[in-house]
Amino acid sequence: MESPTAKLDRVVKEIADEMRQRPDRGEVASYIPELARVDASRFGLVVIDADGHVAAGGDSETPFSIQSISKVFTLTLALGKAGDRLWQRVGREPSGSAFNSIVQLEYERGIPRNPFINAGAIAITDLILSGHQPREALGEILRFMQFLADDDSITIDEAVAASEQRTGFRNAALANYMKSFGVLSNPVEHTLGVYFHHCAIAMSCRQLAMAGRFLAHAGRNPATGLTVVQKERALRINSVMLMCGHYDGSGEFAYRVGLPGKSGVGGGILAIAPGKASIAVWAPGLDANGNSHLGRVALEALTKRMGWSIFGA
Ligand code: GLN
Repeated sequence: MESPTAKLDRVVKEIADEMRQRPDRGEVASYIPELARVDASRFGLVVIDADGHVAAGGDSETPFSIQSISKVFTLTLALGKAGDRLWQRVGREPSGSAFNSIVQLEYERGIPRNPFINAGAIAITDLILSGHQPREALGEILRFMQFLADDDSITIDEAVAASEQRTGFRNAALANYMKSFGVLSNPVEHTLGVYFHHCAIAMSCRQLAMAGRFLAHAGRNPATGLTVVQKERALRINSVMLMCGHYDGSGEFAYRVGLPGKSGVGGGILAIAPGKASIAVWAPGLDANGNSHLGRVALEALTKRMGWSIFGA
């Protein structure tokens, strides 16, 4: 009889092989020029189970731009600072519109729908920045990632940050618009600078799956026994990931994969199988909603074969 660990290793390898052969890869993000240079044929998958076993396939050690996946971790940090008061600044409803929608922000008078659309994440970054210099706030975010992944080698890709800083006109529009409603407390350039830089954190699938373990295990890192956040908070972060983590593709992701997940335009997805595993996948080609195409396909295969959907095995 195949052991559960052997099964997980086999399934991860099978999926990595299958994904390598797929012709449908989506389109790499081009609105951030530096991301347009990434090779669309890359694919990585890492699953870390409750015992700390690491199952890896494909380009599992190659760092990529985590982009909006960083928003899960800035939300966690900001909840630590502001507690539930945070929900006065941003909502927690699915947006049903694009991640950089301006029209929705106008309609809702500068209060972003949720912490994962760009406007919401910029408001959260502003909250972390308050009372600090941009450099200190960014250092805090980076150190949090290094602590969670247990890896001090994680860095920010300055070329990606600079590329977005030069071209991020829409984010500047969203930030200025929120500022006009008094939603942002700090100078817009400072908040945006920290936001672009935390989006430009580069991590491999293995590092990202390591960083997500506390969400898979009710707020505790099972390797160290340390509590990162209280159980209730971890469960709630997962619920926001399920409902809002893929923008206007969140319904489709829940339908097909059945796990909380957060995507980034670098092609990464962090997915959480509660009580079972922390999962990171990377396939740079995106679908029309800006979510990794093969990343979603791979996760759909994984949850089906492992019986991990939160809606029933
Ligand atoms: N830094 C990107 C942006 O602000 C993040 C978007 C994403 O990953 N969906 O546009």
